[in-house]
Amino acid sequence: MPIRNLPLTESLIPNVFSCDVEDWHQAYFKTEEVSDRCYVNTMSCLEILDENDVRGTFFIQGLVADQRPEVVRAIQQGGHEIQTHGYSHRLTWDLGPKGFREDLERSIKILEDIIGKQITGFRAPCFSITRNEWWAFDIMGELGLSYDSSIFPMRTLRYGFHYDPGYSIINLRSPDSAVIEELPVSVLGDGRFRLPVGGGGYLRLLPVSFLSAALRRINKAGRPFVLYCHPYEFDPDEFKKMSAAVPLARRWHQQTFRASVPRKLVALFQSAPFTTLENVLEFERGRQRKETL
Ligand SMILES: [Zn+2]
Repeated sequence: MPIRNLPLTESLIPNVFSCDVEDWHQAYFKTEEVSDRCYVNTMSCLEILDENDVRGTFFIQGLVADQRPEVVRAIQQGGHEIQTHGYSHRLTWDLGPKGFREDLERSIKILEDIIGKQITGFRAPCFSITRNEWWAFDIMGELGLSYDSSIFPMRTLRYGFHYDPGYSIINLRSPDSAVIEELPVSVLGDGRFRLPVGGGGYLRLLPVSFLSAALRRINKAGRPFVLYCHPYEFDPDEFKKMSAAVPLARRWHQQTFRASVPRKLVALFQSAPFTTLENVLEFERGRQRKETL
């Protein structure tokens, strides 16, 4: 798949658009049923990507694929890369090695059956991999995965730890498996002080001028900007129908500035090339090969 229309030079690094496909309603209310909004919101996201000629990577939750295969098919028809976000959206440290393997394997099987292609990449729910969950990389390798984007490379209240914010290679224990390539979502800075700028709530809350400046700065440091979002961030009206059931503080935290997401994305897409994670990894591999010559 070609990297978008902008020509690539040493100073024009391709950036990642990624989307973790899950249903806020299903997750919050802990129901078994994925709501219709998940499909509608994913279509809104796909429309914006299409209008801007951007192809991205969608880490799809297995439960969503199981109940709403039409979401997966729409993403595939749009020419995007499909990878896994696990099946249940349970956190890696809660699942433990056995549960993690089962959950990941189940999601891979469902997605591969729908798309007819091998799943090779993973992003853990809520970036739930730290130094304590390093065993997860061996399991990824054993299940045939070759890359990961689960590390949040700074400590926050809920997740993350100080990790190299750029592309890196994680060696696996098993000699049969090669390595897992790691490309974390973006943070600004690589020293002690870091700022999350890669997406999710930060995409909603930070002004577009700040996001654009962060992108330029990260590219100037020779790294791709790795952005992530969710389909529900394209749905500013989600809470109108269930306002009474969700506490005000939670609604504020989850809903504020959702309506700003599309225009921020368009501004970022117009300022720099965005593509799939696999394309960016290929670009990074090429650059590393050149450096070792
Ligand atoms: Zn998620």
